[in-house]
Amino acid sequence: MLKAAFYTLGCKVNYYETESLKGIFLQEGFDIVDFGVEADLFVINTCTVTHVADRKSRQTIRRAKKLNPEALVAVIGCYPQVNPEAIRALPQVDLFLGTQERLSLPGLVKRRLQGQDKYGGISSYDHEGAAFEEMPWLKEQGRARAFLKIQDGCDRFCSYCVVPLARGPLRSLPLEKGLDYLREIGRAGFKEVVLTGIHLGLYGMDSQDRESSLATFLEEAVKIEGIQRIRLSSIEPADFDEKLLEVISRGGKLCPHLHIPLQSGDNFILSRMKRSYNTSFYASLLRDLRGSIADLAISSDIMVGFPGEEEKHFLNSLQFVRECAFSSLHVFKYSPRPGTEAATYSSPVKPEVQEKRSREMIALGEELAQQFQEQHLGRTFPVLFENKIEYSDLSCSSFPRECLLKEEKITGNPLIWEGFTPNYLRVRALGKPDWRGKVKHICLKKRYPNYLEGSEPG
Ligand code: SF4
Repeated sequence: MLKAAFYTLGCKVNYYETESLKGIFLQEGFDIVDFGVEADLFVINTCTVTHVADRKSRQTIRRAKKLNPEALVAVIGCYPQVNPEAIRALPQVDLFLGTQERLSLPGLVKRRLQGQDKYGGISSYDHEGAAFEEMPWLKEQGRARAFLKIQDGCDRFCSYCVVPLARGPLRSLPLEKGLDYLREIGRAGFKEVVLTGIHLGLYGMDSQDRESSLATFLEEAVKIEGIQRIRLSSIEPADFDEKLLEVISRGGKLCPHLHIPLQSGDNFILSRMKRSYNTSFYASLLRDLRGSIADLAISSDIMVGFPGEEEKHFLNSLQFVRECAFSSLHVFKYSPRPGTEAATYSSPVKPEVQEKRSREMIALGEELAQQFQEQHLGRTFPVLFENKIEYSDLSCSSFPRECLLKEEKITGNPLIWEGFTPNYLRVRALGKPDWRGKVKHICLKKRYPNYLEGSEPG
């Protein structure tokens, strides 16, 4: 049996697409193995959102060929879509596809393994007329949470962002099809589903049906049996219209956790970024959301070192981020992306200044995350447990070694479980062997740098 190994860089949408491809390769008779062992095929799903992502993609491609020089290396995703010449020039690459036609990959791979179609798989890079590529939901996802991609593409062209070039125009999975997948996910026993998309808030906007929208989708999705939690991957600030706000505020199965990219807390920089809001709009949105959703976690993305960002703009950004009291923060250093408007801007920020600002912003993000964790101490929340923490990963665990060893003697397994509250706090607790995929009420007792320790009350 041929062995295939997969590697994903980038966002949750990429993650979903890789998992979907794994399912297709399994059906085609491949054995799926870990990336890091010798395989006959390596599939690398790339990201190109920053130059660091490009570099990591290239490193992973080289690593694959080193693992087995005889293996076929297939490169897919945003990097070859945006820069096919860079990928074509890498001697380790045997075939590549962009962000379309990925369902053809198994056929192309088979033909290449049989020595046919030497140049097969080099696709056209035109998004014109692109339809939503429906990549099947994978039942064997190795988690308690299922992911489902319902939207692709973006037409907003923020000045720094290469995503519209990589992903093409807005496309959505038809509503009934999406709901069918959710029913399957519910029947398969998943308690939580994460809805993903490149510009998720614009779900349905490409549809002929004027009623089609993310809010409509969510209204139907919450009625599906079996699924207890629905999480949204990321929503742009400007996409919260009245109806979406109203639906999200009803709570219920919709998790009180929203990722709302801010990018900068300075209005001059936001306008150079061609973002469609200013800080007062953003602050008012957060007030509305927090006023109607209890224990809401709001996480965000921030970019530092955008061209023209002077110290005063950065200080404004720091101050605004502090006021927003995010539950967690992803900090990126700006890097020019070919083909974007900002790549032509003057006044670049020096790398050492970018580095310093990045460190300061990361430190603030950690401080805010700590404050958010602390607000939850002493309270009980439902936690969906996903993973057992292996003994070797317990270097900073709060659980006393003797206690763990005692439990191990009884069961033969380490029994520390990790899971998430609805508002996405990472929690660890001593549990029972059958806790994977179960929701348990856990009282949160102690804070550690990236998780809270808790136990069942009583
Ligand atoms: S909204 Fe802006 S930042 Fe987000 S994917 Fe579209 S262009 Fe990129």
